[in-house]
This record gives sequence, C-alpha cells and structure tokens, in this order.
Amino acid sequence: MGIIRDAFDLILPKNCSICGRFPDADGKIPYSVPEGFHICFDCLSQIVPQPSENRFFPCLSEPYEGDPLPGLVLYIPFAYRGIFARAVPRIKFHSQPQIAEFMGTLLGNMMQKDGIRGDLIVPVPLSSSRYKERGYNQADLIASKAAEVTNIAYIPDLIRRVKDTMRQTQITDNGMRSMNVNGAFEVDDKYDIEGVSVLLVDDVATTGHTLHEASLSLMRAGASKVVCIALCGNRAVLNAESF
Ligand SMILES: [Zn+2]
Repeated sequence: MGIIRDAFDLILPKNCSICGRFPDADGKIPYSVPEGFHICFDCLSQIVPQPSENRFFPCLSEPYEGDPLPGLVLYIPFAYRGIFARAVPRIKFHSQPQIAEFMGTLLGNMMQKDGIRGDLIVPVPLSSSRYKERGYNQADLIASKAAEVTNIAYIPDLIRRVKDTMRQTQITDNGMRSMNVNGAFEVDDKYDIEGVSVLLVDDVATTGHTLHEASLSLMRAGASKVVCIALCGNRAVLNAESF
C-alpha cells in the first residue's frame, strides 16, 4: 500500500497548504485533511497547544477600573507563532477556506478537551465593507467548523457590526483601540438570547477590545454568560499572567 501511495505521490506531488513545501524524497508526504488541504510533517509537528495553565486569560490584556464585564474570560489554546502565524494570514488574505476548516477542527477539539461548553457559538463579525472586499469572514469559517466538532448550535449572523471601524492592528494606542470598537456591535433583534450562554469566537486575540465589545452587545441582549475564544494569540508571550 505504501509503495502504491508513494508512486502516486511522485506523479502528483502535493505541497503543504501552509508553508508551501513539497514532500521530500524520503517519503514525507503531506496529509490530506480536509480534502484539498495538505500539511507537511514539519507544520504538523508545530501544532502544540499552550500549556494547560496558560490557555485562559482575562479578556482585556490591560483591564481597567469600572469595566462592565470584569470577569470576562478569554480562552486561547494556541500561540500566534509558527504554523499559526503562517496559517492565519493565509486564511485572511488568500481565501483558503480549507485551512480555516482545519484550524476550526483543531479549535473544536481543544474546546472539547478543555470542557468549554455553551448553548451557542457565534463568530465576531467583519464590517460589511471588509466582508465585501474578502467575500468571507475568517472567524465564521473557523467558528462554524468548531461548532460542528463540538456539536454546539451555531448562528453566524447573531451579532452585526453597526459601525465601520478601523483595523485594530492599525492603531497602536490601547485607549484608541477601545474607543474604535465602542458601540460597534449589536445583536440582531430577530434572535432572542435571553438566558443563553454564548461562546464568542475570533481567529486571533490581541488586546481583547473587539471581543470585549462584542461580548457587551451579547450581555446587553440578555445572554446569561459569554466566554471569548480565539484560535491563537500572543497573550502567553507578551502577557504571561495565567487566569
Ligand atoms: Zn508545511
């Protein structure tokens, strides 16, 4: 079987969807999960979760006095480096939904392993102008797969962006980042989420302002609890305080 597979891969070499490398001559063949997605052993070996005591953080990297959601928790199973630092821009800017699907599967598996449960999974929405530009929301692609893996109900359009904001990465000042997303989100009133616990998913977490603001919209609409989730983040590197 191995010989046939090797021969087949010689005819049709598949390069890694993440680093672009082709399999080498001694039979290191990229995996094919899901269909159309290939990953080399090098990238695969970098999929290592954060140590278990380093996956939960306060949502805001710089908490402030008078925060209406002081206990808001952010779960980040992977660090934003290596394979994740390469994969996320590929999902964001190169329209590679198979990578998002793979990442969503990883996220869903970690959520199950860490017992993260809720009634509902929702993604952080993109602004409509950015959605038009890209044609998809990377958080939606990741979150929908994680919902499938965890068997939790999924509503992609529960939260709407009501204000076009600047890209958070373009703003360096922390206070400005907070102001930028202030009032940016609203729960669509066709949904009743009174007493519902929500898992709010984004691809990357930085300062936590966007997740925090979207969580506020959920709590205002009657959610009983919100847990923020990001596939990966730099929190453990830049701010090592565990929750
Ligand atoms: Zn690779």
